[in-house]
Amino acid sequence: MEEIWVTRSAMPPLEDYVEEIRALWDTRWLTNAGRKHEQLREQLRQYLGVRETELLVNGHMALELTFQSMKLSGEVITTPYTFASTTQAIVRSGLTPVFCDVTENFTIDVKKIEALITERTSAIVPVHVYGQVCDVQEIQHIAQKHGLKVIYDAAHAFGTTVNGKGIGTFGDASCFSFHATKVFHTVEGGAVCFSDPALGRELRERRNFGLRGQEQIVSVGTNAKMNELCAAMGICNLRYVDDWIARRGAIAMRYREKLSDVAGLLLAPVQQGVRSSFSYFPILIDEAKFGYSRDEVAEHLAEHGIVTRKYFYPLTSTAMCCRRRGLAENTPRADWLSRHVLTLPLYPEMTRQQVDMICSQICACRK
Ligand SMILES: *Cc1c(COP(=O)(O)O)cnc(C)c1O
Repeated sequence: MEEIWVTRSAMPPLEDYVEEIRALWDTRWLTNAGRKHEQLREQLRQYLGVRETELLVNGHMALELTFQSMKLSGEVITTPYTFASTTQAIVRSGLTPVFCDVTENFTIDVKKIEALITERTSAIVPVHVYGQVCDVQEIQHIAQKHGLKVIYDAAHAFGTTVNGKGIGTFGDASCFSFHATKVFHTVEGGAVCFSDPALGRELRERRNFGLRGQEQIVSVGTNAKMNELCAAMGICNLRYVDDWIARRGAIAMRYREKLSDVAGLLLAPVQQGVRSSFSYFPILIDEAKFGYSRDEVAEHLAEHGIVTRKYFYPLTSTAMCCRRRGLAENTPRADWLSRHVLTLPLYPEMTRQQVDMICSQICACRK
């Protein structure tokens, strides 16, 4: 039986990569903001249409070091419908996550933010889940009114634009992940996009043990630098990423054609003016109308070699650190979504036949 994985890392032609790393055997400059690093940084700055960007070892450290560089304190308003990283970056930075519910678009419900603001609140950390864009205008409005910082978790939104504007231009900072499973990757990697140059200096120091020059230690940092081999992978992948996004879009379109009229299945709303990166293809399975539960569908697909993910289940608020404030009842929509969602296989090399086969297997559950 042919197995279809939920994702499969996109790769450039091997020759591209070999050519790109060849110079490293002469320069022996392998990390610490080398030439590949600086080249990738400039290319990403242009591709994402942002004023400034800094590269990091992964998307998680992009979040942590941004919070720490901004010297946030107290409480941060965020959502529990996300990957564990978002919430853990908040907690590991000594901040208290305050969980806000989401809309049917999977992103933060802006109508519920203000009720959660206290005198201890320092920032809002919304997530562009699956590449669905948050209500950036309203979030900006609320943040300005209350003097709060806005840091987007944009791990799912590489290449997304809103009315032609790069997603990384919104808020005080946007954090991207370049993990191997993301739309654009550097094997492991991440970046922060922002416009305040002072934040760039803090990030550069903190990703390198808080060092300023050779003789000053000015902050408590860590080791979170992107190395040259990863940057070289990014340079190669950037040549192909538009093609990969187009292929993802075609697959998403085919899923929509096949699944949008099936009773009991709900698809993510298509957003006006948004060029999506098609990071994930989530479906919601309403057992009462479909006849089978999300878990039963996932099991049926697994039996037929189709790997899916219950992404995002469970809510991060139900884990560890957050028990007291993180009751699922406080975020009923997020709770419902997490118990009904299934993300389907989606990667550039998937064929139309594979998509059709997956859709027939989903529908075959009902018989
Ligand atoms: C992948 C991901 C991260 C973390 O990125 P890494 O590069 O794996 O550290 C953070 N938030 C979300 C929503 C993600 O999907």
